[in-house]
Amino acid sequence: MKIIDLRSDTVTLPTDEMREAMMKAKVGDDVYREDPTVNELEELAASIFNKEAALFVVSGTMANQVSIMTYTQRGDEVIVGKNSHIYNYEVGAMAALSGVQAFPLNDENGMFSLDELESAIRSENIHFPKTALITLENTHNRAGGVALSKEYIDEVANIADKYGIPVYLDGARIFNACIALAVSPAKMVERVDALMFCLSKGLSAPIGSVIVGKRDFIERARKMRKRLGGGMRQAGVIAACGIVALNKMVDRLKEDHENAELLAKELSEVKGIIVEPVAVRTNMVYFMLLPGAIDAPELAKRLLERGIKIGVVSKRRVRLVTHKDVLKEDVIEAAKAIKEVVESTWRGE
Ligand SMILES: *Cc1c(COP(=O)(O)O)cnc(C)c1O
Repeated sequence: MKIIDLRSDTVTLPTDEMREAMMKAKVGDDVYREDPTVNELEELAASIFNKEAALFVVSGTMANQVSIMTYTQRGDEVIVGKNSHIYNYEVGAMAALSGVQAFPLNDENGMFSLDELESAIRSENIHFPKTALITLENTHNRAGGVALSKEYIDEVANIADKYGIPVYLDGARIFNACIALAVSPAKMVERVDALMFCLSKGLSAPIGSVIVGKRDFIERARKMRKRLGGGMRQAGVIAACGIVALNKMVDRLKEDHENAELLAKELSEVKGIIVEPVAVRTNMVYFMLLPGAIDAPELAKRLLERGIKIGVVSKRRVRLVTHKDVLKEDVIEAAKAIKEVVESTWRGE
């Protein structure tokens, strides 16, 4: 049976071109900075974002935590979104590894209110921790995969600048945001001090994320990566896939966005569910199952019998993610299956 896997864009398989690039990659010991393919990937990433330097790491979580560790001292405070990945999905790493505490702000639509942000910044007082970092997430996963505008990022940076606090962007899916808003990556992150992006999500590489920023920050981050056990040796075999990802897989993200839009449209006609609206849609569709409808775990079970995998976020909330390994006809089939299961079990008005 064919599987249509809409749980995440992390399930994307490497392309044939990536596998070939892995086989042919020139490699060396990257801890000695002697892997030419890793060096090439890092230079390419820095140039795409018009920043000085970059650092290849194994995962988005490691990228975020290496960056936080580099920007903070024990006892500092980091401003995060209540719904951010950094705050919710990294096993408490900022506390466990860097010894810093989070100051979570409301970010229901992916954005903090600028007033709330400014009042969250600590003044000088013997009792207070130091606000060492402000983090943003673009696209914002839990807020529906919404793309935040460059204008909003710049407004956050204006406040941060006023207090001399760096801005760090969790840009796991920053290319989705850039494609959706037709803004170049360099322009989008012009005002952030550093960011990371994932090669292993919609860009379909098997492994890896990249941190991008100023040269001295990246050199300090390189040391923190080593501290965390993330110094790799002949990492060119995986970096090679990252180069293919950046050169070949970015523009096609618009197909994923079109498929997500189609999915949202089809699902909006299903009795018993509410598709969550999103200001700028990328490759995600979240929906709520109304009281009277089947619950999310049960829906997932019924769909799995038909070869369709969905993301259960909570008892009534579902996430669907489009990516290169689901085609337009798969999306149509999935929407049809969801309609049949939800409407045939509907007990509401
Ligand atoms: C996936 C993701 C990460 C973490 O990446 P991993 O490679 O899974 O560790 C961080 N932030 C966001 C917004 C993500 O979606």
